This record gives sequence, structure tokens and C-alpha cells, in this order.
Amino acid sequence: MIEKIYLASPHMSDEGYEMKYIQQAFDTNWIAPLGENVNEFEKELATKVGVKSAAALSAGTAAIHMALKAAGVGEGDIVFCQDLTFSATSNPIIYQNATPVFIDSDYKTWNMDPVVLEEAFEKYPNVKAVLVVHLYGFSADIDKILEICKKHNVVLIEDAAESLGTLYKGQYTGTFGEYGVFSFNGNKIITTSGGGMLVSNNEERIAKVRFWSTQARDKARHYQHSELGYNYRMSNILAGIGRGQLKVLDQRIAKKKYIFEFYKRELGELEGVQFMPINEWNEPNYWLSCMTLTGQVRPIDIMETLEKENIESRPIWKPMHMQPFYEDFDFIGKGISEKIFENGICLPSDTKMTDEDLSRVVEVIKRLWK
Ligand SMILES: *Cc1c(COP(=O)(O)O)cnc(C)c1O
Repeated sequence: MIEKIYLASPHMSDEGYEMKYIQQAFDTNWIAPLGENVNEFEKELATKVGVKSAAALSAGTAAIHMALKAAGVGEGDIVFCQDLTFSATSNPIIYQNATPVFIDSDYKTWNMDPVVLEEAFEKYPNVKAVLVVHLYGFSADIDKILEICKKHNVVLIEDAAESLGTLYKGQYTGTFGEYGVFSFNGNKIITTSGGGMLVSNNEERIAKVRFWSTQARDKARHYQHSELGYNYRMSNILAGIGRGQLKVLDQRIAKKKYIFEFYKRELGELEGVQFMPINEWNEPNYWLSCMTLTGQVRPIDIMETLEKENIESRPIWKPMHMQPFYEDFDFIGKGISEKIFENGICLPSDTKMTDEDLSRVVEVIKRLWK
């Protein structure tokens, strides 16, 4: 069988940084609870992206949940949530017994459309938070969204799970809103096998999230609880992987960019092909190379052809307003997210791919145009 090419798989450092931190944890028996790797990973990531404070958690989903809770989102509150995303963005709104209203994307960014967001405030003046996503490692037009949030006095939460290392006007995504969320799930740009991080310049709120995430134990000798707790902290072993991975983040971004440019050069001129939007104010991390197809060749044709060659690819996220689970919730927009979903495809963007692998992918795809 010809070797499999993955969409995006874990890629540990050549230098073995991750094992060094894991070994330290073993040597000092700081397997649990928490420990130096967790504290240092939080500090190192906060320093990297330029925020005051970070809490290492068991998943990006947990980080979104804690961001909503920290923002005071509770029963019956409305949250404006980007429609075109993974369900992990919106599910925590339901965990908090709040109500998502889904906001369409625009073609310019594929992310939340600021014009639609402004319209949504006319229909729902009382909103607790806005949850924007930076899909596939390129960014939303965050200045415009931030301005609207400020005008309406609403907390902005950035789901930057896919965009660690992405710059918007020279500043890292995840650091514009009151809260930013990163994920270290297995296929993300760097991974801890599973994990997440909540960042904020509000140190008091981050301290509170650490408290909730360790079962909300009050300061007392006995087990005393005045609030609902969660078991959401990252293990010290996994934080060790994260510290090692953080050292190669910029290396991974450079390779992801190389992959994107390779595809764009080789496939960009094919009839009906358009690559994901990269605006002049945006320096993406290029997590996944994505394109839309509006000619004869459909995304499913490419996916099926690649699959036969043992090459992984996948559709764009199916919008939340089209999900059976969310059918009773409101959606505001003009069907742009749906169009991107119907026409879009994510190409294999694994950083371990060689030029030979990339050529293999490109040749298989090009055959469909002949
Ligand atoms: C991966 C991802 C998440 C969830 O992160 P986990 O660490 O897997 O819980 C949330 N939002 C988006 C957009 C993601 O891609």
C-alpha cells in the first residue's frame, strides 16, 4: 500500500524538546497534580502571544466553556456565535444553558461578517457575548468586530483554536478580545495530544478559571465548595509536550506557509479554483490549505480521488445553522457560510510532507481537470 498522506498529524520536534520536559516531570515525580511544566507552559505561551495571563486546560472546548463562564454567560443569555465553525465553538454555550444566535461569514474573511453582526444587534439588543472564530489559521476582521462589541458593551471571545501564531496587523489572534482560546488537539498546528489554553489580560478572571477548573475547592482544610467546579486542568506531562512544541511553532508555521504556496502555485490557475482569502492585514499560520471550487470539478470529486490514492482531505466545516442539533436556533445572514461549505475543501497540510508528497497530491488533483 502506498504511504498515507495525512490532513494534519502530530509533529514532534526533531530536537526532542518534548521528551526532555516529560523526563524532568518523571525525574521529579511531578506526574500529577499540575507542576512546573503547567506553570511554565502557561507563562511561555502568554509571553509568546503577548498577554498577561493563561490557564492550561484539558481541551480547547473546556477553554471556551470557561471563557463563557468567566464572561458571566448563564441561563437564558444570548451569545452571538460564528456560524461557520466546528461544533466545539458553540456547544459550550449550551453547557451554560445560554442561547446561541448564529452569525454568517463574508467571502472576504470566511469568518464573522461585521455587517451581519451589526444587523444582529438590531434584532437582539441584549447580548452577553460575541464568539468569533479565526478559521483554518487566517483571521477575522477583528478591528471591526471589536469596535461593534465596544459600541454595544459586549464581551468578545476569540476562538483561536486553529490560529495560534496568526497575526492580525502585527498582533497575535486570541489577544484582542477579553478572552482568547487555543487548542492543542492532535491535528492542530502544535499539539499536546489533547489540551487547550485560555488567555486574557484579566489576571483575576484567569485565576478564577484555574479555581473552577480544579473542582472549585475553597480555601479550607476540609473539602468546602461554594461554587460549581470542573475537572478541566491540563496534566503536567502533557504541558511538557506543549513546552517542547511551542519551541517549534514558528518552524511549523513556515512549513505550513510553504505548503500553501506550493498548492497555490500549482493549482491556483485551474478553472474555478479560488484559495482561501488572505487579507493584507493578516499573516496567517496557514494551519490548513483550503480552496473553493465553482467550476465543473466539485469538492467531492477531489476528496474521492485523493482517498483512492490514500491521501486525506476533508470538507469545510458544516455551518452550525445547518446542524440538526442547532436547527431550532436563529441564524442571521445571507447563506454565505453555506456556499463556502458547499464549495470548499481542505487539502492535506501535514508539516511532515515532502516535496514529493506535495507533488503527488497536486498531480492527482490536476488529473481531474484533464
Ligand atoms: C479544535 C477546535 C476546537 C476545540 O478544541 P479541542 O481542544 O479539540 O477541544 C474549538 N474550535 C475550533 C474552531 C476548533 O478547530
